[in-house]
Amino acid sequence: MRINPLIRLAWVGLLAILATFTVARGGPAWAVGTAGPVIAADVSVEVEGPKTRFRVTLSKSVTAQVSLMEKPDRLIVDLPEVAFHLPPNAGRQQAGLIASYRYGLFAPGRSRVVMDLTQPATVSAMTVEPNAANGTALLTIELTRTERDDFHRAAVANAAKAAQSAIADTAPVSKDARPVIVIDPGHGGIDPGANAANGLFEKDLVLSFAHKLHKALEASGRYKVVMTRDKDVFISLGDRVRSARNVQADLFISIHADSISGGQEVRGLTVYTGAERASDADSARLAERENKADAVAGVESADMPDDVSDILVDLTLRETRSFSHGFATRLVGEFDSVARMNKNPHRQARFQVLRAHDVPSVLVELGYLSSKQDLDLLMSEEWRGKMVSAMSVAVDRFFATRFARQGAAAVLP
Ligand SMILES: [Zn+2]
Repeated sequence: MRINPLIRLAWVGLLAILATFTVARGGPAWAVGTAGPVIAADVSVEVEGPKTRFRVTLSKSVTAQVSLMEKPDRLIVDLPEVAFHLPPNAGRQQAGLIASYRYGLFAPGRSRVVMDLTQPATVSAMTVEPNAANGTALLTIELTRTERDDFHRAAVANAAKAAQSAIADTAPVSKDARPVIVIDPGHGGIDPGANAANGLFEKDLVLSFAHKLHKALEASGRYKVVMTRDKDVFISLGDRVRSARNVQADLFISIHADSISGGQEVRGLTVYTGAERASDADSARLAERENKADAVAGVESADMPDDVSDILVDLTLRETRSFSHGFATRLVGEFDSVARMNKNPHRQARFQVLRAHDVPSVLVELGYLSSKQDLDLLMSEEWRGKMVSAMSVAVDRFFATRFARQGAAAVLP
Protein backbone atom coordinates (compact mmCIF):
# COMPACT_ATOMS: atom_id res chain seq x y z
CA MET A 1 0.00 0.00 0.00
CA ARG A 2 1.38 3.40 -1.00
CA ILE A 3 0.88 6.23 1.42
CA ASN A 4 -1.14 9.08 0.05
CA PRO A 5 1.31 12.04 -0.10
CA LEU A 6 -1.32 14.31 1.43
CA ILE A 7 -1.61 12.05 4.45
CA ARG A 8 2.13 12.03 4.80
CA LEU A 9 2.22 15.83 4.62
CA ALA A 10 -0.37 16.02 7.34
CA TRP A 11 1.83 13.87 9.53
CA VAL A 12 4.83 16.03 8.89
CA GLY A 13 3.05 19.31 9.46
CA LEU A 14 0.90 18.72 12.49
CA LEU A 15 2.04 19.08 16.07
CA ALA A 16 0.46 15.76 16.78
CA ILE A 17 -2.26 13.75 15.19
CA LEU A 18 -5.26 13.38 17.35
CA ALA A 19 -7.19 10.35 16.37
CA THR A 20 -10.53 10.01 18.02
CA PHE A 21 -12.22 6.72 17.63
CA THR A 22 -15.79 5.87 18.30
CA VAL A 23 -17.31 2.58 19.15
CA ALA A 24 -19.59 0.84 16.71
CA ARG A 25 -22.80 2.02 18.31
CA GLY A 26 -21.75 5.64 17.86
CA GLY A 27 -20.90 8.46 20.18
CA PRO A 28 -17.47 9.42 21.39
CA ALA A 29 -15.44 6.79 23.17
CA TRP A 30 -15.41 8.82 26.36
CA ALA A 31 -19.17 8.89 26.56
CA VAL A 32 -19.82 5.20 26.24
CA GLY A 33 -17.00 3.67 28.18
CA THR A 34 -17.82 1.62 31.19
CA ALA A 35 -16.52 2.87 34.50
CA GLY A 36 -13.08 1.82 35.76
CA PRO A 37 -9.67 1.95 34.19
CA VAL A 38 -8.94 0.89 30.64
CA ILE A 39 -7.04 -2.38 30.61
CA ALA A 40 -4.46 -3.26 27.97
CA ALA A 41 -3.69 -6.90 27.18
CA ASP A 42 -2.55 -9.10 24.31
CA VAL A 43 0.09 -6.96 22.71
CA SER A 44 1.74 -8.04 19.47
CA VAL A 45 4.13 -6.69 16.86
CA GLU A 46 3.86 -7.85 13.26
CA VAL A 47 6.44 -7.13 10.57
CA GLU A 48 5.48 -7.08 6.88
CA GLY A 49 8.08 -5.74 4.47
CA PRO A 50 8.73 -2.07 5.24
CA LYS A 51 5.81 -1.96 7.68
CA THR A 52 5.62 -2.81 11.35
CA ARG A 53 2.26 -3.07 13.08
CA PHE A 54 1.89 -2.68 16.82
CA ARG A 55 -1.37 -4.07 18.15
CA VAL A 56 -2.85 -3.98 21.60
CA THR A 57 -6.25 -5.04 22.84
CA LEU A 58 -7.94 -2.51 25.13
CA SER A 59 -10.94 -3.12 27.35
CA LYS A 60 -12.63 -0.19 25.63
CA SER A 61 -12.02 2.41 22.91
CA VAL A 62 -9.83 5.33 23.81
CA THR A 63 -8.41 8.46 22.30
CA ALA A 64 -4.80 7.92 21.29
CA GLN A 65 -2.34 10.62 20.30
CA VAL A 66 0.99 9.92 18.61
CA SER A 67 4.11 12.02 18.18
CA LEU A 68 7.65 11.48 16.97
CA MET A 69 10.87 12.40 18.73
CA GLU A 70 14.52 12.36 17.70
CA LYS A 71 17.80 11.59 19.45
CA PRO A 72 17.06 8.79 19.88
CA ASP A 73 14.28 8.18 17.34
CA ARG A 74 11.06 7.39 19.17
CA LEU A 75 7.33 7.12 18.66
CA ILE A 76 5.23 8.24 21.60
CA VAL A 77 1.65 7.02 22.01
CA ASP A 78 -0.32 9.02 24.58
CA LEU A 79 -3.37 7.37 26.09
CA PRO A 80 -5.75 8.00 28.95
CA GLU A 81 -4.87 6.07 32.09
CA VAL A 82 -4.38 2.44 31.13
CA ALA A 83 -3.61 -0.51 33.37
CA PHE A 84 -1.12 -2.58 31.37
CA HIS A 85 -1.60 -6.28 31.96
CA LEU A 86 1.22 -7.36 29.68
CA PRO A 87 3.79 -10.11 30.10
CA PRO A 88 6.94 -8.92 31.89
CA ASN A 89 9.10 -9.36 28.78
CA ALA A 90 6.76 -7.32 26.55
CA GLY A 91 8.66 -4.71 24.58
CA ARG A 92 12.14 -6.06 25.16
CA GLN A 93 12.66 -7.70 21.77
CA GLN A 94 13.32 -5.92 18.53
CA ALA A 95 10.78 -6.44 15.77
CA GLY A 96 10.93 -4.57 12.47
CA LEU A 97 11.04 -0.81 13.03
CA ILE A 98 10.51 -1.16 16.78
CA ALA A 99 13.78 -1.71 18.66
CA SER A 100 11.97 -1.94 21.99
CA TYR A 101 9.06 -0.32 23.76
CA ARG A 102 7.98 0.49 27.28
CA TYR A 103 4.72 1.58 28.83
CA GLY A 104 3.29 2.96 32.03
CA LEU A 105 1.65 5.82 33.83
CA PHE A 106 3.05 9.13 32.60
CA ALA A 107 1.08 11.60 34.70
CA PRO A 108 -2.10 11.32 36.76
CA GLY A 109 -4.78 10.08 34.38
CA ARG A 110 -2.36 9.68 31.45
CA SER A 111 -0.48 6.65 30.23
CA ARG A 112 2.05 6.33 27.50
CA VAL A 113 3.78 3.82 25.26
CA VAL A 114 7.25 4.85 24.10
CA MET A 115 8.74 2.93 21.19
CA ASP A 116 12.43 3.16 20.36
CA LEU A 117 12.77 2.99 16.59
CA THR A 118 15.46 1.18 14.65
CA GLN A 119 15.31 3.86 11.94
CA PRO A 120 13.19 6.88 10.97
CA ALA A 121 9.55 5.86 10.61
CA THR A 122 6.16 7.46 10.37
CA VAL A 123 2.70 6.34 11.41
CA SER A 124 1.06 5.37 8.14
CA ALA A 125 -2.18 4.18 9.76
CA MET A 126 -3.82 4.08 13.14
CA THR A 127 -7.08 2.28 13.70
CA VAL A 128 -9.30 1.06 16.48
CA GLU A 129 -11.53 -1.88 15.71
CA PRO A 130 -14.24 -2.33 18.29
CA ASN A 131 -15.28 -5.88 19.01
CA ALA A 132 -19.05 -5.70 19.38
CA ALA A 133 -19.18 -9.14 20.98
CA ASN A 134 -17.15 -8.34 24.07
CA GLY A 135 -16.81 -4.52 24.04
CA THR A 136 -13.03 -4.54 23.65
CA ALA A 137 -11.15 -2.54 21.03
CA LEU A 138 -8.04 -3.40 19.03
CA LEU A 139 -5.67 -0.47 18.64
CA THR A 140 -3.34 -0.89 15.66
CA ILE A 141 -0.50 1.49 14.92
CA GLU A 142 1.21 0.91 11.60
CA LEU A 143 4.71 2.25 11.16
CA THR A 144 6.41 2.69 7.80
CA ARG A 145 10.00 3.59 7.04
CA THR A 146 10.53 7.22 6.18
CA GLU A 147 13.36 9.55 5.17
CA ARG A 148 15.47 11.18 7.84
CA ASP A 149 14.46 14.68 6.65
CA ASP A 150 10.74 13.95 6.93
CA PHE A 151 11.20 12.38 10.30
CA HIS A 152 13.24 15.34 11.48
CA ARG A 153 10.55 17.82 10.39
CA ALA A 154 7.80 15.86 12.13
CA ALA A 155 9.88 15.54 15.31
CA VAL A 156 10.63 19.26 15.38
CA ALA A 157 6.94 20.03 14.96
CA ASN A 158 6.11 17.64 17.79
CA ALA A 159 8.76 19.05 20.10
CA ALA A 160 6.84 22.14 21.16
CA LYS A 161 3.95 20.02 22.30
CA ALA A 162 6.07 17.33 23.88
CA ALA A 163 7.81 19.95 26.00
CA GLN A 164 4.58 20.37 27.91
CA SER A 165 5.61 17.71 30.30
CA ALA A 166 3.64 16.49 33.22
CA ILE A 167 3.41 19.17 35.82
CA ALA A 168 4.34 17.84 39.19
CA ASP A 169 1.25 17.98 41.32
CA THR A 170 2.89 19.53 44.31
CA ALA A 171 0.54 22.23 45.50
CA PRO A 172 2.30 25.38 46.68
CA VAL A 173 3.01 25.04 50.35
CA SER A 174 2.21 28.05 52.48
CA LYS A 175 5.44 29.10 54.10
CA ASP A 176 5.50 29.00 57.86
CA ALA A 177 8.62 29.29 59.93
CA ARG A 178 9.56 25.67 59.37
CA PRO A 179 12.07 24.70 56.69
CA VAL A 180 10.59 22.99 53.66
CA ILE A 181 12.17 19.70 52.59
CA VAL A 182 11.41 18.16 49.22
CA ILE A 183 11.93 14.41 48.93
CA ASP A 184 12.32 13.22 45.36
CA PRO A 185 11.89 9.50 44.75
CA GLY A 186 13.67 8.89 41.45
CA HIS A 187 12.00 7.61 38.26
CA GLY A 188 8.35 6.47 38.30
CA GLY A 189 5.56 5.44 35.97
CA ILE A 190 6.88 4.77 32.49
CA ASP A 191 10.48 5.16 33.71
CA PRO A 192 11.25 2.16 35.96
CA GLY A 193 14.87 3.13 36.65
CA ALA A 194 17.26 0.28 37.31
CA ASN A 195 15.99 -3.24 37.80
CA ALA A 196 17.21 -5.91 40.12
CA ALA A 197 17.79 -9.57 39.32
CA ASN A 198 14.71 -10.45 41.41
CA GLY A 199 12.47 -8.29 39.20
CA LEU A 200 12.27 -5.37 41.61
CA PHE A 201 12.33 -1.89 40.07
CA GLU A 202 14.29 1.06 41.39
CA LYS A 203 11.20 3.29 41.08
CA ASP A 204 9.22 1.16 43.58
CA LEU A 205 12.05 0.69 46.01
CA VAL A 206 12.92 4.38 46.24
CA LEU A 207 9.25 5.35 46.56
CA SER A 208 8.72 3.16 49.58
CA PHE A 209 11.95 4.47 51.12
CA ALA A 210 10.85 8.05 50.44
CA HIS A 211 7.49 7.43 52.15
CA LYS A 212 9.33 6.25 55.23
CA LEU A 213 11.65 9.26 55.26
CA HIS A 214 8.69 11.57 54.70
CA LYS A 215 6.89 10.09 57.66
CA ALA A 216 9.91 10.37 59.96
CA LEU A 217 10.65 13.99 59.06
CA GLU A 218 6.99 15.02 59.32
CA ALA A 219 6.69 13.29 62.69
CA SER A 220 9.40 15.52 64.13
CA GLY A 221 7.10 18.49 63.56
CA ARG A 222 10.12 20.59 62.66
CA TYR A 223 9.74 20.51 58.87
CA LYS A 224 7.24 20.81 56.09
CA VAL A 225 7.88 17.83 53.87
CA VAL A 226 6.79 17.57 50.26
CA MET A 227 7.24 14.66 47.84
CA THR A 228 7.78 15.22 44.11
CA ARG A 229 5.72 12.07 43.62
CA ASP A 230 3.83 9.93 46.09
CA LYS A 231 2.74 7.27 43.64
CA ASP A 232 3.96 5.36 40.61
CA VAL A 233 3.88 8.25 38.15
CA PHE A 234 6.44 9.79 35.82
CA ILE A 235 7.69 13.30 36.68
CA SER A 236 10.15 14.99 34.34
CA LEU A 237 13.51 16.10 35.71
CA GLY A 238 12.63 19.74 35.05
CA ASP A 239 9.37 19.39 36.97
CA ARG A 240 11.16 17.87 39.94
CA VAL A 241 13.43 20.92 40.09
CA ARG A 242 10.49 23.26 39.48
CA SER A 243 8.41 21.75 42.25
CA ALA A 244 11.31 22.26 44.69
CA ARG A 245 11.59 25.90 43.63
CA ASN A 246 7.79 26.43 43.65
CA VAL A 247 7.57 25.48 47.31
CA GLN A 248 10.74 27.49 48.07
CA ALA A 249 12.38 24.39 49.39
CA ASP A 250 15.25 24.70 51.84
CA LEU A 251 16.54 21.24 51.02
CA PHE A 252 16.02 18.79 48.16
CA ILE A 253 16.82 15.10 48.59
CA SER A 254 16.63 12.85 45.56
CA ILE A 255 16.57 9.11 46.32
CA HIS A 256 17.90 6.49 43.93
CA ALA A 257 19.26 2.93 43.91
CA ASP A 258 20.96 2.19 40.63
CA SER A 259 22.79 -0.73 39.18
CA ILE A 260 26.19 -0.97 37.63
CA SER A 261 27.41 -3.31 34.94
CA GLY A 262 30.81 -3.57 36.64
CA GLY A 263 29.66 -6.54 38.67
CA GLN A 264 28.41 -7.61 42.04
CA GLU A 265 31.38 -6.35 44.02
CA VAL A 266 30.58 -2.65 43.49
CA ARG A 267 28.32 -1.66 46.36
CA GLY A 268 27.59 0.79 49.11
CA LEU A 269 25.85 4.05 49.69
CA THR A 270 26.92 7.21 47.84
CA VAL A 271 25.88 10.86 48.25
CA TYR A 272 26.10 13.07 45.15
CA THR A 273 26.04 16.82 44.82
CA GLY A 274 25.71 18.82 41.61
CA ALA A 275 28.76 20.18 39.80
CA GLU A 276 29.67 21.22 36.29
CA ARG A 277 32.54 18.72 36.34
CA ALA A 278 32.14 15.22 37.64
CA SER A 279 34.47 14.08 40.41
CA ASP A 280 35.20 10.85 38.52
CA ALA A 281 34.27 8.93 35.39
CA ASP A 282 31.78 6.59 37.14
CA SER A 283 29.86 9.55 38.54
CA ALA A 284 29.81 11.23 35.12
CA ARG A 285 28.37 8.05 33.59
CA LEU A 286 25.78 7.72 36.33
CA ALA A 287 24.64 11.34 35.88
CA GLU A 288 24.42 10.78 32.16
CA ARG A 289 22.21 7.73 32.74
CA GLU A 290 20.00 9.53 35.25
CA ASN A 291 19.71 12.53 32.95
CA LYS A 292 18.19 10.24 30.32
CA ALA A 293 15.05 9.73 32.44
CA ASP A 294 13.11 12.24 30.35
CA ALA A 295 14.16 10.59 27.11
CA VAL A 296 13.05 7.21 28.48
CA ALA A 297 9.58 8.63 29.01
CA GLY A 298 9.50 10.48 25.70
CA VAL A 299 9.83 13.98 27.11
CA GLU A 300 11.99 16.52 25.34
CA SER A 301 14.55 17.79 27.85
CA ALA A 302 13.83 21.49 27.73
CA ASP A 303 16.58 23.87 28.76
CA MET A 304 16.81 23.66 32.47
CA PRO A 305 15.29 26.66 34.19
CA ASP A 306 18.42 27.38 36.12
CA ASP A 307 21.13 27.59 33.54
CA VAL A 308 23.68 29.92 34.95
CA SER A 309 23.20 33.03 32.87
CA ASP A 310 23.74 35.95 35.13
CA ILE A 311 26.00 36.92 37.94
CA LEU A 312 23.34 36.87 40.66
CA VAL A 313 22.25 33.38 39.73
CA ASP A 314 25.90 32.38 39.66
CA LEU A 315 26.53 33.76 43.12
CA THR A 316 23.40 32.16 44.53
CA LEU A 317 24.42 28.87 42.96
CA ARG A 318 27.84 28.98 44.60
CA GLU A 319 26.31 29.69 47.98
CA THR A 320 23.73 26.94 47.44
CA ARG A 321 26.41 24.45 46.43
CA SER A 322 28.32 25.11 49.62
CA PHE A 323 25.15 24.27 51.55
CA SER A 324 24.66 21.16 49.42
CA HIS A 325 28.22 20.12 50.26
CA GLY A 326 27.63 20.80 53.92
CA PHE A 327 24.57 18.58 53.94
CA ALA A 328 26.30 15.85 51.92
CA THR A 329 29.17 15.83 54.44
CA ARG A 330 26.72 15.48 57.32
CA LEU A 331 24.84 12.71 55.55
CA VAL A 332 28.03 10.77 54.90
CA GLY A 333 29.04 11.31 58.52
CA GLU A 334 25.74 9.89 59.81
CA PHE A 335 25.58 7.03 57.32
CA ASP A 336 29.15 6.06 58.01
CA SER A 337 28.39 4.56 61.40
CA VAL A 338 25.37 2.53 60.24
CA ALA A 339 25.84 1.71 56.56
CA ARG A 340 28.32 0.21 54.19
CA MET A 341 29.58 3.22 52.22
CA ASN A 342 30.91 3.32 48.69
CA LYS A 343 34.69 3.62 48.78
CA ASN A 344 34.35 7.25 47.76
CA PRO A 345 31.09 8.19 49.45
CA HIS A 346 30.71 11.85 48.45
CA ARG A 347 30.91 12.40 44.72
CA GLN A 348 29.89 15.07 42.27
CA ALA A 349 28.41 15.13 38.80
CA ARG A 350 26.19 17.13 36.51
CA PHE A 351 22.80 15.74 37.54
CA GLN A 352 19.88 17.62 35.94
CA VAL A 353 17.81 17.09 39.04
CA LEU A 354 20.38 18.90 41.20
CA ARG A 355 20.32 22.09 39.11
CA ALA A 356 18.11 24.41 41.20
CA HIS A 357 20.42 27.37 41.83
CA ASP A 358 18.71 28.34 45.07
CA VAL A 359 17.85 24.98 46.68
CA PRO A 360 20.59 22.95 48.40
CA SER A 361 20.26 19.57 46.72
CA VAL A 362 21.72 16.10 47.08
CA LEU A 363 21.12 12.79 45.38
CA VAL A 364 21.45 9.71 47.55
CA GLU A 365 22.20 6.39 45.89
CA LEU A 366 21.09 4.00 48.60
CA GLY A 367 23.03 1.15 47.05
CA TYR A 368 23.38 -0.89 43.90
CA LEU A 369 20.57 -3.15 42.76
CA SER A 370 23.27 -5.07 40.91
CA SER A 371 24.80 -6.15 44.22
CA LYS A 372 23.05 -9.05 45.93
CA GLN A 373 24.17 -7.81 49.35
CA ASP A 374 22.96 -4.27 48.68
CA LEU A 375 19.66 -5.55 47.38
CA ASP A 376 19.11 -7.61 50.54
CA LEU A 377 19.75 -4.52 52.64
CA LEU A 378 17.53 -2.29 50.49
CA MET A 379 14.66 -4.72 51.02
CA SER A 380 15.22 -4.99 54.76
CA GLU A 381 12.81 -2.96 56.90
CA GLU A 382 15.40 -2.79 59.64
CA TRP A 383 18.12 -1.39 57.38
CA ARG A 384 15.74 1.15 55.88
CA GLY A 385 14.72 2.26 59.35
CA LYS A 386 18.37 2.83 60.27
CA MET A 387 19.01 4.84 57.10
CA VAL A 388 15.94 7.00 57.68
CA SER A 389 17.09 7.71 61.25
CA ALA A 390 20.58 8.61 60.05
CA MET A 391 19.14 10.93 57.42
CA SER A 392 16.84 12.58 59.96
CA VAL A 393 19.81 13.29 62.24
CA ALA A 394 21.78 14.75 59.32
CA VAL A 395 18.80 16.95 58.41
CA ASP A 396 18.51 18.21 61.99
CA ARG A 397 22.21 19.01 62.17
CA PHE A 398 22.18 20.70 58.78
CA PHE A 399 19.37 23.06 59.70
CA ALA A 400 20.75 23.71 63.17
CA THR A 401 24.04 25.00 61.72
CA ARG A 402 22.48 26.59 58.66
CA PHE A 403 20.20 28.83 60.66
CA ALA A 404 22.94 29.58 63.16
CA ARG A 405 25.14 30.68 60.24
CA GLN A 406 22.37 32.75 58.68
CA GLY A 407 21.82 34.49 62.01
CA ALA A 408 25.52 35.33 62.16
CA ALA A 409 25.56 36.51 58.55
CA ALA A 410 22.73 38.93 59.22
CA VAL A 411 24.92 41.14 61.42
CA LEU A 412 27.71 41.35 58.82
CA PRO A 413 27.67 44.15 56.25
ZN1 LIG B 1 18.08 6.22 39.49
